[in-house]
Amino acid sequence: MIEETHDPTLKSWVESANREDCDFPIQNLPLGVFRTTQSPEPRLGAAIGDFILPLSQWLTWDNLNGYMSLMPSDRRRLRCDISKALESGSGKRELVAQSECEMLLPASIGDYTDFYASIHHAQNVGSMFRPDNPLLPNYRHVPIAYHGRSSSIVVSGTAVRRPVGQLGEGQFGPTKNLDYELELGAFLGPGNAIGESIPIDEAEQHIAGVCLVNDWSARDIQRWEYQPLGPFLAKNFATSISPWLITMEALEPFRASPAEHHVPVLPYLQATGSGAFEITLEVRLRSEGMIEPMLISRSHFKDLYWTLAQMIAHHSSNGCPLRPGDLIASGTVSGPEKENRGCLLERTWRGSEPIQLPTGEQRSFLEDGDEVIFTGYCAREGFVRIGLGNCRGTILPARRNHYS
Ligand code: CA
Repeated sequence: MIEETHDPTLKSWVESANREDCDFPIQNLPLGVFRTTQSPEPRLGAAIGDFILPLSQWLTWDNLNGYMSLMPSDRRRLRCDISKALESGSGKRELVAQSECEMLLPASIGDYTDFYASIHHAQNVGSMFRPDNPLLPNYRHVPIAYHGRSSSIVVSGTAVRRPVGQLGEGQFGPTKNLDYELELGAFLGPGNAIGESIPIDEAEQHIAGVCLVNDWSARDIQRWEYQPLGPFLAKNFATSISPWLITMEALEPFRASPAEHHVPVLPYLQATGSGAFEITLEVRLRSEGMIEPMLISRSHFKDLYWTLAQMIAHHSSNGCPLRPGDLIASGTVSGPEKENRGCLLERTWRGSEPIQLPTGEQRSFLEDGDEVIFTGYCAREGFVRIGLGNCRGTILPARRNHYS
């Protein structure tokens, strides 16, 4: 529903929010958890321009789980209140500069599920490992996912230690094929009780908002361990997320038609309306020798084969309870072109086409000291561009004492 909070003529008394390239104009109002050295207790805030509006007047929790358990009508009312407080002409309030804040994880994350919703990613990876049978026969019928690990989800900016593990028979050591996966995450809530399921047309009411997700992956560990049960230690050493929850209300103007399905899906996965969202996602890489990061890929969330609503309807179809603060991720967001490939495995075609960096270095997979930066934004004629902020992480060398 497009409301007055989406009005493109709306301006804020916070000047930096009115800049054209600003991720956080008054039409966005993402929510997050922050603290400062002066006030070390975690607090909730809304990002506006270069600042944060503390939300103590409305929400006194120290994470967003309570917000995520609200009904969508209550979340919409809160958005209207915050918008009114920040629009030009209303009284100025105390703000905190983002540059002085440490951002924390937005929620206490209960369960984390990682989907595999990009058919382009599935086809690319499949053709590397099974050239004669790239796309498995179930792909167009069932949204594929595995249960991830929430204990290793870290907020953007946290350094990521290169994992060690089994690389093949008799081999144990640091991964040589460290990769990122460009994904979009969705925080869930209020969710369903055990034994009940969420009908597809109600599924979006159970999404509080989205963030950027980097599902760091060790491809050599993955290759050795993934059959028959799927990834395990290749994925659960770290997953980075961006700190700002971009609410479903903020995404409303950027709805898009879902990808075309050539094979009919079962009724419980059939949705009406525009369940996809036009979100552009970008990956940049900076080696230790580089000053500016280099753009590696750009892809579009609307190119996914399955929508968030389909993922939720499927996830709960067997009665599995989804709870406020649960995180689902889309899987690597790739597109049809080479520049749309959302991980190095695809982008360098398993290392056979390395990326040339401006320093003369080459990258097939990530090296120690490399920083990976994800950004995202929504832009559409007639609306103000909103950004997702960023999700970054730098690779630390493996711990030497963990192996011999
Ligand atoms: Ca993944």
